[in-house]
Amino acid sequence: MFSYRHAFHAGNHADVLKHTTLIALMKYLTQKDTALTVIDTHAGAGLYRLDGDYTETSGEAQEGIFKLVAEGKVPSALVKQARSATKGIAIPASTGAWAPALQDYLDLLRGLNPKFAETGDAAHLKIYPGSPFIEQQFLSGRDKLKLFELHPTDFKSLSGNIEQLGVGRQVAVAREDGFEALKTFLPPPARRAMVLCDPSYEIKSDYARVAVCMADAVKRFATGTYVVWYPIIPRPEAHDLPRKLKTLAVKAGRSWLNATLTVKSSKLTTDADGEVKRPGLPASGIFIINPPHTLKAELQAALPQMVALLGQDRNAGFTLEHGG
Ligand code: SAM
Repeated sequence: MFSYRHAFHAGNHADVLKHTTLIALMKYLTQKDTALTVIDTHAGAGLYRLDGDYTETSGEAQEGIFKLVAEGKVPSALVKQARSATKGIAIPASTGAWAPALQDYLDLLRGLNPKFAETGDAAHLKIYPGSPFIEQQFLSGRDKLKLFELHPTDFKSLSGNIEQLGVGRQVAVAREDGFEALKTFLPPPARRAMVLCDPSYEIKSDYARVAVCMADAVKRFATGTYVVWYPIIPRPEAHDLPRKLKTLAVKAGRSWLNATLTVKSSKLTTDADGEVKRPGLPASGIFIINPPHTLKAELQAALPQMVALLGQDRNAGFTLEHGG
């Protein structure tokens, strides 16, 4: 069985990128009157404690969400310049306010953490929403959410967390392989769907499975919005994945968007005792097929702020590309 548990990583910089993007997507896609089917192929536990053993042991949230909320208001660090890795130029990170997409992300966190909302004190930020809870927050009566999670413990937590919402059959949870299960839901009944594919990439074959799964999904339902999160690490499969997704979108004649956030160098370092240290996850990306036309501008405003606040060294930066 897999050893990956998202609880160790909840609220890290990769979650900040993924969940800010997810909120912007859900907000846009649930504006229409037609029913939306949301499919989360790798759901995780749904809800995490930021003061729990897992999160505190890893300290990843300290380099992610806690850095974002540290100052409790629009942080002065936003006046710093953020580097755009695409153009290699410095661009202003702020106009003096949170980018709307980050504002929505922080509002969602405030909704789940009333004492944090009241005081603005990061010590009261204790509950962190995973993708299922973010998706569920935006649904209206006609929409459906399908969640897949294979890990027995996380599946149990997810089922319990969803049950306490009391939303009945609107949200379905299954302990199934999300790559395989997706096939049975496309095309969706009202022909509107968003799919989040967010594996742990614990096994190397996940990279290839994502590409095959997305190619199959686009073939079954060309107009769905497909969202893939991926780590940017020194591994050929990780670099190939966004390239493969781009080729797939271009060949299918679909629009696409690829955003990346780098917070630090990926180089190994040596500490004072001569021990070689791995940097942890230095960067991640999110690739979207059929993105809403509003998403690029939203990320264009949010990414420099993420870089300014989460960047750890001079390698910090973002890229934002789109096509189609
Ligand atoms: N999407 C979640 C979020 O943003 O809150 C995080 C998901 S985590 C990165 C990946 C999850 O996928 C893990 O909980 C893991 O147990 C689960 N998993 C791994 N392989 C799977 C598969 N083939 N089908 C469904 N779930 C799987």
